[in-house]
Amino acid sequence: MSIATAPTPARSSLPGTRADLVVVGAGIVGLAHAVEAVRRGLSVTIVERDLRPVGASVRNFGHCCVTAQRGELLDLARRSRTGWLDAAAKAGLWAPEAGALVVARSATELAVLEELRDERGTDAVRMRTRDEVADTLGRAADGRDDLAGGAMLPADLRVNPREAAPKLAAWLAAQPGVHLAWGTNVVGVESGTVHTSRGPVHGDQILLCVGHDLDRLRPAEAEAHGIQRCRLSMARIAAPAGFRSDAAVLTATSMLRYDGFTAMPSAAALREEVSGHSAELLGIGANVMFTRLPDGTVLVGDSHAYDTTEIPFQEEATSRLLLREAARVLGVGPGEVRVTERWQGVYASSPRGPLLVRDLAPGVRALTVTSGIGMTLSFGLAAATFDGALRTTV
Ligand SMILES: Cc1cc2nc3c(=O)[nH]c(=O)nc-3n(C[C@H](O)[C@H](O)[C@H](O)COP(=O)(O)OP(=O)(O)OC[C@H]3O[C@@H](n4cnc5c(N)ncnc54)[C@H](O)[C@@H]3O)c2cc1C
Repeated sequence: MSIATAPTPARSSLPGTRADLVVVGAGIVGLAHAVEAVRRGLSVTIVERDLRPVGASVRNFGHCCVTAQRGELLDLARRSRTGWLDAAAKAGLWAPEAGALVVARSATELAVLEELRDERGTDAVRMRTRDEVADTLGRAADGRDDLAGGAMLPADLRVNPREAAPKLAAWLAAQPGVHLAWGTNVVGVESGTVHTSRGPVHGDQILLCVGHDLDRLRPAEAEAHGIQRCRLSMARIAAPAGFRSDAAVLTATSMLRYDGFTAMPSAAALREEVSGHSAELLGIGANVMFTRLPDGTVLVGDSHAYDTTEIPFQEEATSRLLLREAARVLGVGPGEVRVTERWQGVYASSPRGPLLVRDLAPGVRALTVTSGIGMTLSFGLAAATFDGALRTTV
């Protein structure tokens, strides 16, 4: 499957050299801000070094993971959900309100889900029986004994990461007052001006949405926030026979990653339990989860490894562990899983917190999501930016 192609870039001239807002980076964070700017009647120029979106925003699961967030991030994620649905209607995106199914295979896993249900209520966290979970996974009637039950999180959304950013870019390009400068590298920024490999672009407001590559443009600010690259091992598998659900499927290792789950009283016991039976999964920083694309194929991942400059090599053993675990959840043998693509995803990460929001000069802001939840937050961040509701981080 190829990523939908973006409009052919103007190779020698720079379109839209003056705009109310200049956005650097055509990933989901930059594009969501551009969509919000258009909604508010502003002219926008988007400057992107590549010829189409190829960063984290097309390499992920396409899971808007709302319910597993907490506090301020939960508020942003809820707001983002509305923005995604609105953008999907405008740009013709696939965005089913399919929710997420969290599969529990032990009493401890179930306890974490029940505690979340008690905190959030039965509408937000709907407990599921073993058979209901097995049916959603498309498992055969026999061989369900390893399942304990699970929970459906209906507020979670699904999008197709292969089409969302390219289609949003195409929709934006068709709006009056919007210009996209593809294949244009930004080399510097100051109040009112973005310096690019094709000449200057002027804007009243400038927003740098360059993800982890903030350290190339503004190393001091990136270092102050401790920005690192998190690399993740991903695979796409041929459509499994029985699995037809559009819900994102999360597992025990997912419950060890997202704040919504880790704040539950049984989370510590769950970590101990998983380290007892699946230490190797914790060793690769696994969040075993999968999502189905509209063509029936399934995205399976992921592992987490952190470094400032990422190692380019993908370990086969890591991929095998993730695929074996996904096969177990689907109730099929590892030999029945046929991989059709593998790739490495990279996103910005920081031990200091999930967001970098930094005003670099009057009218110039850097915004990087420094956690693996940029798809989830993108439209919420955009709305909060324009409302002036987004707190800057140091
Ligand atoms: C494998 C994987 C799975 C994930 N799963 C999920 C998920 O299910 N749900 C979720 O919420 N999040 C998920 N994430 C995280 C999410 O994908 C990211 O947080 C999000 O895509 C970040 O968006 P972005 O626009 O900041 O970055 P990017 O998509 O990387 O976009 C940044 C853009 O800036 C451009 N750029 C950089 N430097 C310059 C420059 N100097 N000049 C011009 N352009 C420049 C780049 O070319 C790039 O297009 C996942 C990430 C990965 C890698």
